[in-house]
Amino acid sequence: MTVYNSPPWRQLLSPLRLPPTGQLPAEACQRCRESLPLFVSDEMVGQAVDDLYPETAVHLDLCPTCFQEYEALAGLAYAALYDLGGNA
Ligand SMILES: [Zn+2]
Repeated sequence: MTVYNSPPWRQLLSPLRLPPTGQLPAEACQRCRESLPLFVSDEMVGQAVDDLYPETAVHLDLCPTCFQEYEALAGLAYAALYDLGGNA
């Protein structure tokens, strides 16, 4: 038996056989986006989001579109946090 020294979510990837083009099923993008708000807020409080949301974490690595969505959400979330006492 071969033991791979890789994170557990790697094993989720193999049966999916994602095409190398970077194209992902729309359904996967939809699921990813639905979990993004939770993903971002949990990440902000220091949760191990790679373990909590392996599908989302993997998807963000593969899908530039959803990653942009993630960046936008994270940006908003951080801005809201750091804007509390701020003035610009
Ligand atoms: Zn996507």
